[in-house]
Amino acid sequence: MVLALDGGTPVRRHDFPAWPHHDDAEREALVRAVDQGQWWRVGGSEVTSFEAEFGAHHGGPVLAVTNGTHALELGLEILGLQPGDEVVVPAFTFISTSIAVQRAGGVPVPADVDPVTYCLDPAALDAVRTERTRVVVPVHMAGHVADLDAIGAWADRHGVTVFQDAAHAHGAVRSGRRIGDFGTLAAFSFQNGKLMTAGEGGALLLPSADGFDDAFARHSCGRPLGDLDYEHRSPSSNYRMTEFAAAVLRVQLGRLTAQTERREARWTTLAAALREIPGVIPQGRDPECEVHPHYMAMAALDPEAHPDVDRDLVVRALVAEGIPAFVNYPPVYRTAAHAALLGKALPDAAELAERNPVSEHLGARGLWLHHRVLLGTDADCADVAEAVAKVLAAVAGKRRPAR
Ligand SMILES: *Cc1c(COP(=O)(O)O)cnc(C)c1O
Repeated sequence: MVLALDGGTPVRRHDFPAWPHHDDAEREALVRAVDQGQWWRVGGSEVTSFEAEFGAHHGGPVLAVTNGTHALELGLEILGLQPGDEVVVPAFTFISTSIAVQRAGGVPVPADVDPVTYCLDPAALDAVRTERTRVVVPVHMAGHVADLDAIGAWADRHGVTVFQDAAHAHGAVRSGRRIGDFGTLAAFSFQNGKLMTAGEGGALLLPSADGFDDAFARHSCGRPLGDLDYEHRSPSSNYRMTEFAAAVLRVQLGRLTAQTERREARWTTLAAALREIPGVIPQGRDPECEVHPHYMAMAALDPEAHPDVDRDLVVRALVAEGIPAFVNYPPVYRTAAHAALLGKALPDAAELAERNPVSEHLGARGLWLHHRVLLGTDADCADVAEAVAKVLAAVAGKRRPAR
């Protein structure tokens, strides 16, 4: 079969469900926010209502902010991170997890992830711990809740604070516990691709309501709630969410549970079909992960079955077949942003690569599909699997170009 990339017929002739999903409810919410006549949170009620609703859904008090990166930065400011403090982050994550640490004055220290769940591996933590380790930031990769039991026990043992990066994990549950039930800070994102969105947006979930006033002031140039006298308690930035974003997010939250159920059902179909294709290994699942909202449909190519396959070519070919496919995140230390730290507190890139074999593998051989493919039908999933099988059969012989 000729690849669409080479002029053949694409497997998909029509698109998958669109994302973001929206209808009259978002339109009405926006009009309601406009008609308030007050478009920032201090004058309106949409942000406050959204915080209450999102917090009730996740089991903890919530402060809405401008985006997920800022939620991470603000959380680290609240924890009092000091220059040179070390923060353990997964080597395999979207770069904001580690850039937020750099912006807060800390040193992100990458640790490897689990080969099955792609989440921070508790067994990798001892090797990276030093006297300066203050915080550990597990990422719930694609919505799979990290092993917070083991990571939490390790953190307690060593006086380290856990801060969840829940940018992929709206509505996720691990052994009966929602994100807020773990009693730690957690950062969410509402960027355009995320599971709920207002184009941009974020939220910081707090371990307890006691911290809300401090968090509020720190997301508002240090001004406490209700301040009219220009009191600035801390040299903080402005991370306030707009009323428009919150109005849209209230509607999006209402769709989350049904969409998650749909994605869970479709992923069961798609993962089974992918497992039938030689050398394709879908993201696995810890049985403790009870609700996995599937922000991304992730898989990696087995190096034994496909020793020389060009993953970037596979992704390009899938896109030509009409599949919304993307290459995985590179390990954080393989970016210019992170290289700014080299020679200071961190080992060099070659040593980091040796210490993080799973992140290296996922960065080089992993790919993901937009979660909108999981909002369709089982027939849509069959098309995805057909395209993956077609592409792999065609590119199996084409070697990775030398770099
Ligand atoms: C999207 C994302 C963020 C940052 O969120 P923004 O809202 O885009 O700033 C942080 N961490 C992870 C893992 C993400 O995927």
